[in-house]
Amino acid sequence: MSVRVVARIRPLLKAEAEKDQILSIHEGSDGKPQIVKIPNPKSQNEEYSFAFSAAYGADISQQGLFDAEVAPTIKHLFQGFDVTLFAYGVTGSGKTHTMRGGKLLADRGMIPRLLSSIFRKSKALEKSSHGKTTVDVLMSYYEIYTDKVFDLFEPPEKRTTTGLPIREAEGGKTVVAGLSEVPCSSLKEFEFLYDKANANRSVGSTKLNAESSRSHAILRVKVTISTATESRASTICAIDLAGSEDNRRTGNVKERMVESASINKSLFVLAQCVEAISKKQSRIPYRESKMTRILSLGQNNGLTVMILNLPPTKAFHLDTLTSLNFANRTKKIEVREVENEPIFKGPPRPPSTTNTGVVRKPLRP
Ligand code: ADP
Ligand code: MG
Repeated sequence: MSVRVVARIRPLLKAEAEKDQILSIHEGSDGKPQIVKIPNPKSQNEEYSFAFSAAYGADISQQGLFDAEVAPTIKHLFQGFDVTLFAYGVTGSGKTHTMRGGKLLADRGMIPRLLSSIFRKSKALEKSSHGKTTVDVLMSYYEIYTDKVFDLFEPPEKRTTTGLPIREAEGGKTVVAGLSEVPCSSLKEFEFLYDKANANRSVGSTKLNAESSRSHAILRVKVTISTATESRASTICAIDLAGSEDNRRTGNVKERMVESASINKSLFVLAQCVEAISKKQSRIPYRESKMTRILSLGQNNGLTVMILNLPPTKAFHLDTLTSLNFANRTKKIEVREVENEPIFKGPPRPPSTTNTGVVRKPLRP
């Protein structure tokens, strides 16, 4: 199974002109919109084509994108598999709009819709089992800013200069030590916690975007399904990465430059990891940044969907081409389904004899 890469071209903004649009979407071999075309910046009559699992244009609604790309992963989550969902793109391409979205119901992003769907599914499961099955949802939310990890459920005053440490846990998973895990059982509760946590994010302004996020934001939702005899937990990580733009074009100075250097370093390392994996090299430089250690693409992140956010206009031409090339390599990465083993609460049972070919990892005690 490889990373599912889908492109989303955002609509033109008020300040952008129709004539400056450079991207177009075309049907792929199976008759579905899958191809993004972009002119060669050096020769306007030449075009490059990039094929993805799907390509969405300005007309796709948040609901439409959710139904097509995120809803199917929730089924896997409830079957005990881990899921990673991440947005990649230059600042101003629509990552935060896609993941978090706006306040209006129709504008809600993938994250609130994801939680809403998890709660709905949990309640249905509890109801249909007549209370014999219970579902618990625990959330962690953190950012990686200048290569340091900060808990977004903690106020900024409580941050230490080094941030939280990262450790290897059982089963080869990378975990952040000391992260809050907050129980959550309704969308209302989630929105309260999520809004409050987002106010703790490190934001700055660059020439590209007045409130651009200079950090990677990672929401981790752990769903534990328990019966009287066993319980099984699986997690979904939803990641809004920092902008992938080239430093030299954003006019960054001093402090912004320090941030940008480490943001770009982690995205640079990510690109190197993706390249090393796609070339089947033995050494993948995951450990060179915290973001790549945590994302651990192609290691044990389970079912993975990358949303490649693309701005439609000429102003982003080179960065968009770079993003498309990155995404083109990412789609070739093989990921393993991570099926979490149930923990039996009763007397020990004989080990399962089914061989499904998936990687099973022990649950944390
Ligand atoms: P990023 O997080 O990648 O920097 P944003 O999500 O902040 O980008 O989007 C940049 C601007 O474009 C914002 O004003 C946002 O509201 C708008 N935008 C992005 N995607 C869409 C969309 N699909 N529909 C409407 N507006 C969008
Ligand atoms: Mg953003």
